[in-house]
Amino acid sequence: MAKTLCDWKKDDIAKHPDRLAKLLLDPCFFCKKCARSSNSRKALCKPVALPSLVSFR
Ligand SMILES: [Zn+2]
Repeated sequence: MAKTLCDWKKDDIAKHPDRLAKLLLDPCFFCKKCARSSNSRKALCKPVALPSLVSFR
């Protein structure tokens, strides 16, 4: 099993949609390398805080 979401293989995604769902709920971070998002900084290889959506309204 890959350490970060960025390293998940196609098989990991297919086998662990429940784990994926937990990591994707209310994302606060995105990976500046892979553009993945997560609520866990540890799940991303280059985590950066997501800008608040309020500022885009
Ligand atoms: Zn990444």
